[in-house]
Amino acid sequence: MIPPVPTVDRGILVIVSSPSGAGKTTLTRRLLAEFGNLGFSISYTTRPIRPGEVDGSDYHFVSAETFEAMVERGEFAEYAWVHGNRYGTARGPINAALDAGRDLIFDVDWQGGGALADQWPADALKIFILPPDLNALAERLRRRATDAPEVIDRRLHKAIEELAHFHEYQHLIVNDDVDRAYKVLRAVYLTRRYGRMDRSDVPHPLAALAMQVDESLRSGADEHARALIRPA
Ligand code: 5GP
Repeated sequence: MIPPVPTVDRGILVIVSSPSGAGKTTLTRRLLAEFGNLGFSISYTTRPIRPGEVDGSDYHFVSAETFEAMVERGEFAEYAWVHGNRYGTARGPINAALDAGRDLIFDVDWQGGGALADQWPADALKIFILPPDLNALAERLRRRATDAPEVIDRRLHKAIEELAHFHEYQHLIVNDDVDRAYKVLRAVYLTRRYGRMDRSDVPHPLAALAMQVDESLRSGADEHARALIRPA
């Protein structure tokens, strides 16, 4: 009898969006540090590099001309204007990762999340991180000393626009406490990664994860998001 050919599980596209200032970067970095099979999708952007950022690691920082040439050559899976700058996700690394069974995490806005999920509907896992409240979000944005006041205002406006799209995401996580939010994010990711395997040697037993996801449901994230975008 011919032994079954080992198959590589297809990779997962973990799409994480949130208004800026909701703590998304901290949470996604933690997930990347814990799981070796997960890589970061490094976007292209025309915005200036910030102190502490590394070209080719946080983003590929490119000129408007280089960005436009990539658009012309059809190299982006999606691209958008955010805060007056251009951002885009290259197509090549996505197919390579999916075929090799590697997971990729995307830090993109709602436009990018929508476009990626439209093109890879069966592979996308869409997660939205919610701030505990809008005042806390505004406070966090103001504390970012690198940005000018009008930039902060624009970001706040964009944050409210971003919030209005929460319902397009499969999972909502309220970042009221970073350790609690991380536990839920981890459980959501692992449930998708191993949820189809009904085997005793799975590294993260579903029963344990289910308890954490239950915690997420009890956090009332959906009601919370509706309250945030309700007109005053
Ligand atoms: P920042 O400039 O603060 O790093 O990011 C601003 C916003 O752009 C964030 O909401 C981030 O998720 C989004 N963003 C980053 N890369 C991409 C991308 O490749 N495509 C899209 N559509 N949005 C992106």
